[in-house]
Amino acid sequence: MKYSRLVTIQKITKEAIDAFIIEFIDKDIALASSAGMFISIGLESKMFRRPFAILDACKDTGLVRFLFRVVGASTAELSKLKAKDSINIMAPLGNSFIYNDNTIPILIAGGVGVPPIHYFAKSINNKEKTYVLLGGSNSDSLYMKDELKNVSNLHIATDDGSVGFNGNVVMLLEDILKKDKIMESDKKAIIYACGPLPMLKGLRNAMDNYGIKGYFSFEAMMSCAIGLCQGCALPIEKKSKDNMYSLCCRDGSIFEYDYIEL
Ligand SMILES: Cc1cc2nc3c(=O)[nH]c(=O)nc-3n(C[C@H](O)[C@H](O)[C@H](O)COP(=O)(O)OP(=O)(O)OC[C@H]3O[C@@H](n4cnc5c(N)ncnc54)[C@H](O)[C@@H]3O)c2cc1C
Repeated sequence: MKYSRLVTIQKITKEAIDAFIIEFIDKDIALASSAGMFISIGLESKMFRRPFAILDACKDTGLVRFLFRVVGASTAELSKLKAKDSINIMAPLGNSFIYNDNTIPILIAGGVGVPPIHYFAKSINNKEKTYVLLGGSNSDSLYMKDELKNVSNLHIATDDGSVGFNGNVVMLLEDILKKDKIMESDKKAIIYACGPLPMLKGLRNAMDNYGIKGYFSFEAMMSCAIGLCQGCALPIEKKSKDNMYSLCCRDGSIFEYDYIEL
C-alpha cells in the first residue's frame, strides 16, 4: 500500500556538517514500510519530486525518519524546514531487503548510502551476528555510526584513516573475511550494500572473487518514482532484445548484486 499525503514535521536535526534527519509521524506509512524502501518528496517550488531512503519507521508510534545530505536546491530547501512545517510525501516505495536467519548478514554502507542499511540493521537487531561496514571519506561523513553501534557489529573505514580502518570498505571487507574466517563458516555470508557506484563496482569484483552473493540498493536520478517517467532506467547486465533496462523506482531500488550493469 502506498500513501500520498501532507505530513507534519516533528523534528529536524543536524546529523553532520552536511546532513540532516527529518522525522514525522504517520502510522499508515510506518506500518507499510520495511528496510530498503524509500519515500518521494514533492516541494512546491520544484517541478520534480526527490527520493530518499527510509532511515527507520516505528510500527508502534508511527515515527518515520529520513536522512539527507545537502547536494543541491531541493535538499538545501529541505534543510531549512522547521518542526510543524508540512511536506508532501509519497511512501513507502520500492522493494525491501530480505533477511535469512541462516546466513551471516554483512551490511555495507558508503557515505550517504547509510539509510537503508541502518533500517535493515535495526530490523535484524542482532549485535553479535550482523556485520555493518560503514565507510566514508573522513570522520565527518560517517553518518549514524552511534545508532549503528547499538544494533550491529560495526566496523568503520575512512579513506583518510582518521577513524577506524585506513582504506575503503571493500578493503575492510576483505580484512574482516580473513580475520573472522567468515568463508570457513558453515553459514553463507550475504552482502547487502548501498553506496556510490565506484564502491559497488569494487565490491562486486570482491564478491565474485570470494563467491559471495548479495543485494545492492541503487540511487538513480528519478522524477516520478512510480515507473511512469522512465527517468531512472538502469542498464541490466544480461541484455536481450526485449529486456535492456530495469526501472530503479518500480523494479528496485534493490537488485541482485550482479543484475545491473556497473
Ligand atoms: C532510491 C533512492 C534513495 C535515495 N536515498 C537518499 C538518502 O537516503 N539520502 C540522501 O541524501 N540522498 C538519497 N538519494 C539521493 C537524493 O535523491 C538526491 O541527492 C536528491 O534528489 C538531490 O536533490 P537536489 O535537488 O538537492 O540536488 P540536485 O540539484 O538535483 O543535484 C545535485 C547533485 O546531486 C546529484 N544527484 C541528484 N540526484 C541524485 C541521485 N539520485 N543519485 C546520485 N546523484 C544525484 C546531481 O547529479 C548533482 O550533481 C536517494 C536517491 C534514490 C534514487
